[in-house]
Amino acid sequence: MKNFVYFNNKFVTKNKAYVNIDTHALHYGTGFFGGIRGYWNANTKSMFLFRVKDHLKRLKNSAKLLGLEQPSDLNNLPEIIVKLLKKNSYKTSVYIRPIVFVSELTYLKFDLRNLSTTLAITTVPLEHYLNVKNGVKLMVSSWRRQSSSAIPPRAKPTGIYLNTALANTEAKTKGFDEALFLTQDGYVSEGSAENIFFLKNNKLVTPDLDSDILEGITRRTVVELAKAELCIETVERKVKLSELLCADEVFLTGTGAEITPVIQIDKKKINKGEIGELTTKLQKLYFEIVHGKNNKYKKWLTEVKTKGGEIYEKG
Ligand code: PMP
Repeated sequence: MKNFVYFNNKFVTKNKAYVNIDTHALHYGTGFFGGIRGYWNANTKSMFLFRVKDHLKRLKNSAKLLGLEQPSDLNNLPEIIVKLLKKNSYKTSVYIRPIVFVSELTYLKFDLRNLSTTLAITTVPLEHYLNVKNGVKLMVSSWRRQSSSAIPPRAKPTGIYLNTALANTEAKTKGFDEALFLTQDGYVSEGSAENIFFLKNNKLVTPDLDSDILEGITRRTVVELAKAELCIETVERKVKLSELLCADEVFLTGTGAEITPVIQIDKKKINKGEIGELTTKLQKLYFEIVHGKNNKYKKWLTEVKTKGGEIYEKG
């Protein structure tokens, strides 16, 4: 299989994309990244990129928040991704990882001003990251979510994902599927790489932006869909763990996680361990939309079509 990546303004095969050992980002996790899905539709023989412009907006905000130089090719991210998919001729769903990192060859500087940055994009075939069909078991992590007063989680900085890795490792080691972070002051924050929602008395609730979360693009999508399609409002506020444990339904959202039902948190089963009705409805709607099967929400998609074996961008 071809495996092209985008690196230093060029498309090269992955075995040619190396960084120097003195690269600043390798030492200090100085950078930020995104995660975008390309959904393959075998009927239309197209790849649908989901909310790619919103991902670009978030990446640009990350550069601002962290005070890092924005590489000039970042502006062309959607076009570069289309070209990259074309070079790799994927006919499966893919996960696309754009990363901007401090590529300056120095590890003796902490002043981030005027350090050069590089955009790289790599891809991997991916159907589902979590068990969307049967749901997942969460473990309340003994690691707390990195506070935004130390590093802003909403910038999606590379270095902060050590926090994710520690929590995820702990959860997996103890037989769970994923970790649930609390904030430093004990409120519910998010999964290790997902936002969390719960349903109680026909109202959806999700931790607010002051709960040290990443403002997820899937989170925003779910809030909009629940209101427009199911007449369910979402309240964004501080959430106590005890509320989550007594919820009627709980689910995770994320580009990787999509909409994943939560059937257990620590020892407590949610909805008797059954996947809830609302979660099922939202999931069905979401999968239709991302695969280009719902015309109303085509505004969120960039269609990359195949023509005689070649793929090209439509519209
Ligand atoms: N929180 C964290 C920490 C994440 O890494 C992710 C994945 N990007 C999310 C939430 C979900 O965000 P999105 O829906 O934009 O993928």
